[in-house]
Amino acid sequence: MRPLILGSAGSQPTPKAGCNCRLCTLAREEGGRALRTGPSFYLPAAGLLVDTPEESNLQLAQRALAPSRVAWTHAHPDHAAGMRVVQFLAQSSGRPVEGLVPRPLYPLLAQRYPLDHLIDAGYLELRLVPAGGALELEGLRLTPLAHETEEPVFAYVFEWEGGRGLYAPDHVRSLPVPSGDFDWVVVQMPIPPLEALPFELPAEHEAWDNFYTFEEVTGLWRGRTAQLVFTHIYESVGMTPEELDGVAKRAGDWVTFAHDGLEVGAEPSNSARLEAFLAEQARIRQAHADDPKRMRAEMRRLWEKHRRKG
Ligand SMILES: [Zn+2]
Ligand SMILES: [Zn+2]
Repeated sequence: MRPLILGSAGSQPTPKAGCNCRLCTLAREEGGRALRTGPSFYLPAAGLLVDTPEESNLQLAQRALAPSRVAWTHAHPDHAAGMRVVQFLAQSSGRPVEGLVPRPLYPLLAQRYPLDHLIDAGYLELRLVPAGGALELEGLRLTPLAHETEEPVFAYVFEWEGGRGLYAPDHVRSLPVPSGDFDWVVVQMPIPPLEALPFELPAEHEAWDNFYTFEEVTGLWRGRTAQLVFTHIYESVGMTPEELDGVAKRAGDWVTFAHDGLEVGAEPSNSARLEAFLAEQARIRQAHADDPKRMRAEMRRLWEKHRRKG
């Protein structure tokens, strides 16, 4: 199983209680990809959940997931208010959950949420990561990256044998972009191209200071990651999943807007290669249907060519 976007919403879910906007109405009536719960991410290889939004218990229970570790990015409610899920996980497994917290984040997280209660009750075992430090989990190194923000905000770099991933769901404009190439990068959605936006965004709006534009962020990551996934998708932007697909398409198939339940880590270049392979295979099968020997030779040649490129 690949890493999973459990929740793809921005600071507020879609649909939102009491809201009758076009998007919330669509989500309520049709569900599907239009339904978005709070931002969170799951890495099955390490049994690691990143962030506990309000809907955390629902997100895990629906998919029968039981993480043994939880890390937090920052102390905003859409990332931490569902923290009590730790209690349910610990009760179900009979073991405390391992809580991975960058040291500078601990005081605020404990001040706003029942972190200390969970520790005192034996549901959570805290593992503080010193500033600039990293954690070694089974086959996976986890490095918190500090954003340049007043309040502590962290992104996470995951490194494993032969691969790297980045999860930076929020405040991404203040993240010092790490060097090196990635297999996948999951970041906060940018400001969509203005002609795609369903409303006017005045030039003096604060969004311009806090967000990348679509052009900026795709320019930043093009050629540096096999897959770029936008998450933290704002209800207030009011765009449907199909409209966001249309925006992603402008950059190419390496860019995707997330939805709840999206699996991350497919390599678009590889899947395009696989499609080309399958198409060529079908062509050979048809072209040499009456010459099995020739067909086998052509198939072998195709397979050799495919393997060399891989
Ligand atoms: Zn957020
Ligand atoms: Zn709404």
